[in-house]
Amino acid sequence: MSTIVIVEDEEHISKALKILLESEGYTVFVANDQKSGQIACSSRCPDLVLLDLGLPDKDGIFLIQEIRSYSDIPIIILSARDGENSKINALDLGADDYLTKPFSTSELLARIRAHLRTHNKIVMAKNTSEIKLSDSVSVDIPGKLVYKNGEIVHLTKIEFRLLCALIKEPNKVLTHRYLMLQVWGANYVEHQHYVRIYMAHLRQKLEDDPSNPEFLITEVGIGYRLILK
Ligand code: CA
Repeated sequence: MSTIVIVEDEEHISKALKILLESEGYTVFVANDQKSGQIACSSRCPDLVLLDLGLPDKDGIFLIQEIRSYSDIPIIILSARDGENSKINALDLGADDYLTKPFSTSELLARIRAHLRTHNKIVMAKNTSEIKLSDSVSVDIPGKLVYKNGEIVHLTKIEFRLLCALIKEPNKVLTHRYLMLQVWGANYVEHQHYVRIYMAHLRQKLEDDPSNPEFLITEVGIGYRLILK
């Protein structure tokens, strides 16, 4: 079973999370500041980290950078409601996802399961070329082909690059800025409406119901996430 490190200074939250996660069979370690978080993450070899950004000694942001220097394990941010900018910053520095306090425990457990599953899948299947996005849509990345209900869907170069950027980091929340950099490059970072326009194209072409997308999901004010089941 997987090991989870919780870095959270509010004791009533970390205690409740520990009880919840242990009842689900996870091994849990709690750290209540940035320094002990650093030690727990490097010594306990966790499979996933739950990280509060507002820590008493140092911003949790530093821990993201530290973990990313040696590991690509999923990091889920537990953030306050007003922390939009710090969320975006945390995601750009390599966090995978965020939950805004107060969050539901079922949502938290679902996200943890999804990230652990994706992570294992990526580790196991780095070489698979065909990826299934839904019951009807699949993508052959080396062949640059997308199929819907068995028929080839024509995507423009930019649309395909945007789709690949999302597929490379499934279930992870990707900011507008990150996607601009990946698809258009540094000179276009200010033109974030491009992402919205091209995401709309992708939904029109790939989703069964573009106004109620199944896998090309909007994170309001932050970016997008590709959900891989
Ligand atoms: Ca805090």
